[in-house]
Formats: sequence, C-alpha cells, structure tokens
Amino acid sequence: MTGSEQPAARAEQDVIRFCRDLIRIDTQNWGGGRSNGERDAAEYCAEVMREAGLEPTIVESAPGRASVFARMRGSDPDAGALVVHGHLDVVPAQAEDWQENPFAAELRDGLIWGRGAVDMKNMDAMILASMLRMSREGHQPQRDLIFAFFADEEDNGRFGAAWMVENRPELFEGATEAVSEVGGFSTDVAGTRAYLIQTGEKGLHWTRMIAEGTAGHGSAVQRDNPVVTLAHAVAAIGGYEWPIEYTKTTRSLFEQLAELTGIPFDEKNPQPLLDALGSAAKFVGATLQNTSNPTQLEAGYKHNVVPGEASALVDARTLPDQDAKVAAVLRSWPVRRSDSSFSTKADPWSCPSPAPSWSRWSAP
Ligand SMILES: [Zn+2]
Repeated sequence: MTGSEQPAARAEQDVIRFCRDLIRIDTQNWGGGRSNGERDAAEYCAEVMREAGLEPTIVESAPGRASVFARMRGSDPDAGALVVHGHLDVVPAQAEDWQENPFAAELRDGLIWGRGAVDMKNMDAMILASMLRMSREGHQPQRDLIFAFFADEEDNGRFGAAWMVENRPELFEGATEAVSEVGGFSTDVAGTRAYLIQTGEKGLHWTRMIAEGTAGHGSAVQRDNPVVTLAHAVAAIGGYEWPIEYTKTTRSLFEQLAELTGIPFDEKNPQPLLDALGSAAKFVGATLQNTSNPTQLEAGYKHNVVPGEASALVDARTLPDQDAKVAAVLRSWPVRRSDSSFSTKADPWSCPSPAPSWSRWSAP
C-alpha cells in the first residue's frame, strides 16, 4: 500500500463500522414526539467527534430527542461556515417485511443490510469518517465546518432541525451554506455518467378524510354505511391519474436527457426518457406529477356493528405552487375532511418534510 491508499482504506473501514454501529442503534421515528434511540446515536457521534479532537454539543429538544453538533475551525475566519448535516432517525421497519433483521446491519454480498443503510446512516458514517480522516491527517479546512446530526427528520423536524434553528441559532453562527442527503447524485445515462441537481422540492399535503353515517347493527340494511362511503373515496383517490406537468427545470432536464440519449423528448410520453435514467427513473418520474396515496384506514370496533364514522389518511405530494389545486381535487370527493397543507420552504436548515398541524375542515 502506498501512503495515500492507507488513510483511504482506513477511512473506508471506518465508514463500514460507523454505518453498522449506527444501524444497530434503533432510532425508528414513530412520530408524535415519541422518544427513540436518538440519544444513543447522538452519543455515538459525539464520541467520534471527540476522537477527531472536536468538542461536541448534544442538545435535546425533548427527553431523548437528541441532536449533536461540533465545529471544526477553518483557516479563514472571514469565510462563511459550511454545515455538513445528517439525521439520526429512520423510518420504522417491520422485521417480517425484511429478508434480514433490519437492525442487525449484516454484511452480505458486499452490502450492508438494514434500516438506514441508504437513508441516511450511510452518509452519517461517511461524514464521521471524513471528519476523522481530516483530523488524523492534520487537514484544516479553509472555512469552518459545522458537523450536525439531527433528530426527527423522518417525521417533521419539530424535535430536530426546526427546534434547533429556533432555540439554538448560535450553533449555526456564520454559516452560509449547508449540504446533506439527496439534492443530487450521479446516474448512468446511455453509458455516460450524469449528475442530477435538485432545483426544488415537492410540497406535502396531508389530509384526514372522515365519512359519517348512521351506526347500527351489522344485520340491518344500511344505506349510509360510512365504511362504504369512505372506501369509494379512497379507491377514487388512490386510482386518480394526476396529469403530467413540467416545471421549468424538469423540462430542461428532459431536453438535456434527449440530447444525451438521442431519444426524442415527447412531452406526452416521457417514459422512454425515464427508462434511460435507470435506477433514478422512479425518483424523476415522481417530479412530473402530483401524487395522492391513501396510507391509513380507521373504522369499526366489532364484526357485527356498523360504525358511525370511518376515516382515512391521505399522503399527497404537490408540485411547486400546486398546493391549492391539489387540495381542491381532494375536496371534490364527498366526505368530510380535516386537513392541513404546507409547501416546503427553502430553509437551509430544514429537512424536506415540513411540519403539518392538524386542523378541522368541513365541507359545506
Ligand atoms: Zn433521509
């Protein structure tokens, strides 16, 4: 091994170790401010930060909801600081849906298996390993680097990024930019490596639909069974075909994809160009339309009783400036709803999904 390979190999081993260790700390985010393993994960990161000679600060927004920060001083005090951040929590995983235990972080076929392996304990581990390598090699960055690992990204950030910005702004003093997950990655297009650049985010529009009817016995004739009313609405929303629409930047992306691949850009049928994007097709495809997915159903409590109410949660994601339009379409189904809607703000600290707060809304 040459001198330059050795630190790289060591850093790579660090990435694998950090990623596996972090996956084994269960930080499933069940929403509603419930405490999870974020404190343990923050302590773990803090230990690596100390090893890198930094002084970590762990901040809890609520018991157990910990985020951790450390600043690496740059050589130029006038240069704006860069925030390099990740999140510590993961979305829940049902073990029975998995081939491997989602919290065992098994290494198989050269891959790490587990919840958070791609979102985003992998990148947390890369940040930590790079930080440690810089310290080992005595490399001082030009600008301050603020390393931040947040709680609560996978719900709405209220116990993570949002809380920190509101309550501990001094941690980000002097920061002018921030980088984290997504935003851009490479993909193979017609044998060429191409880089996707994020130019916007879809908005989040969460709705609870409530169907009301007359409660009664399961043996009677029921003309206003709310389960049936709701089922019709849920099926309609789930099957609704949102039209394909191009924002200025997605149009530009498709024009350039056409140039790269030689496949003509047909506005009405972008599928051939999407296919050329390989693994990124699903991701880019979702930027072409609004989406609305029913995700939860609640109704009934006994096999022989028709309930008086049935409700469903719908997760809709909106193209820029289309929140009102999507809300209007969702309201056109004949059930009562409580809903809330938010568009993502371009806030350098916040993670993608903005905070919803429920409010009642009744159709006339
Ligand atoms: Zn993530």
